[in-house]
Amino acid sequence: MSDHCDLIVIGAGPAGSACAEAAARSGLRVRVFDRAQFPRTKPCAAGLTSRALELLGDSVDPVIHRRVSTVEMRLTGRVSGTWRSTRPVVATTTRRELDPFLAERARQAGALLEFGRSVFDISAGPEGVEVVSAGERLSAPYVVLAEGARGRLRSRLGLEPLEFGGAAYARLYPNDGATLGEHGEGIVLDAGTRRRGYGWIFPKNDHVNVGVCGLELPGPDYLRDVDRLVEKLGLSSWRREGPFAGFVPRVSRPEDHSRGRVLIAGDAAGLADPITGEGIAYAIQSGRIAAEVIAAAPPLDVAARYRERIENEIIPHLTLLTPLTRRLQTFGPGLVGALLSVRPIAAAVERWVPGSPYTADGILTIDVRR
Ligand SMILES: Cc1cc2nc3c(=O)[nH]c(=O)nc-3n(C[C@H](O)[C@H](O)[C@H](O)COP(=O)(O)OP(=O)(O)OC[C@H]3O[C@@H](n4cnc5c(N)ncnc54)[C@H](O)[C@@H]3O)c2cc1C
Repeated sequence: MSDHCDLIVIGAGPAGSACAEAAARSGLRVRVFDRAQFPRTKPCAAGLTSRALELLGDSVDPVIHRRVSTVEMRLTGRVSGTWRSTRPVVATTTRRELDPFLAERARQAGALLEFGRSVFDISAGPEGVEVVSAGERLSAPYVVLAEGARGRLRSRLGLEPLEFGGAAYARLYPNDGATLGEHGEGIVLDAGTRRRGYGWIFPKNDHVNVGVCGLELPGPDYLRDVDRLVEKLGLSSWRREGPFAGFVPRVSRPEDHSRGRVLIAGDAAGLADPITGEGIAYAIQSGRIAAEVIAAAPPLDVAARYRERIENEIIPHLTLLTPLTRRLQTFGPGLVGALLSVRPIAAAVERWVPGSPYTADGILTIDVRR
């Protein structure tokens, strides 16, 4: 491939690779730079929601550890609910497997991927974008910036810093090669783990990922909460890796989505769910939308079309919960825990028990310990 290309993608996480794959499939000449050598570690619990699974299709199967159809929600010390769905609601993997898999899909589609290559600077002009990498100046009509939550190039474009919450987790391995036992059967979401947040347990092939997510910036309190959750689950004797912590964007404003001919995708655009911490699906979706609008140009105003599609197709899923999140900041004990701290709601749930309502998609059992 000559140095000339139609699109430069910065970052080969889910946003960058999904963008590169879709753009290359549309016939664009695409170069992708990632500063890391793959496989690389990205702090992430790597739970794929049904939204992500739908975007990825069955071809993602080789990197899936477990498909889970049981979700236990521990709402308060006394109230829990178990949802047994008729179909998988979450699949688990690891980012060391998922990201090389997505990058390879982009390579097979025709994108040129260069790992261990950092982009140090970026400037957007009216006709194109210039980036500086490995002492070279490269230009392209469009750049997709998919540098993740903590990238430095946003500020080079004059964009305001993003707002963040945090998440942290540890990997727990059963001793002497034992199975995961009851911990392998479903995922657990625990609203009592953290004020203004929740805890999770995701089963993987040979370990469980135990973590917490919240609205404050990551700090030592997250690591303490992970320790507390591990203890509460009776997993203190399991071999532990971590804890690891990372930043989760909390808000995505229209100005975060583009700057001139630079379209911004995934975490770099603030596109993650502020409550659940889910970002992989939104990264893939925004990366693909960026590729589609660039491939369709001209005569489209690419940036305007991109912003419009992000506003219509992604933001409603995030902002549905965002105002609620803000209100819940005054409540305290996590999303559902906070609702249950409202006495009439708690009373209504208790009246419902013992209840195992069958719904179109499965059975929900509410359990109240009296
Ligand atoms: C602890 C934690 C747990 C999470 N758990 C989940 C979960 O279970 N499910 C879920 O859906 N989401 C989860 N998320 C969110 C999810 O990890 C992100 O939303 C997702 O990784 C965003 O993908 P991305 O492609 O935008 O960015 P990233 O995955 O961060 O990829 C960015 C890439 O850009 C590269 N890069 C950065 N700067 C440069 C540069 N200057 N030059 C070249 N390359 C560069 C990096 O090396 C990296 O490979 C979690 C987040 C955290 C912090």
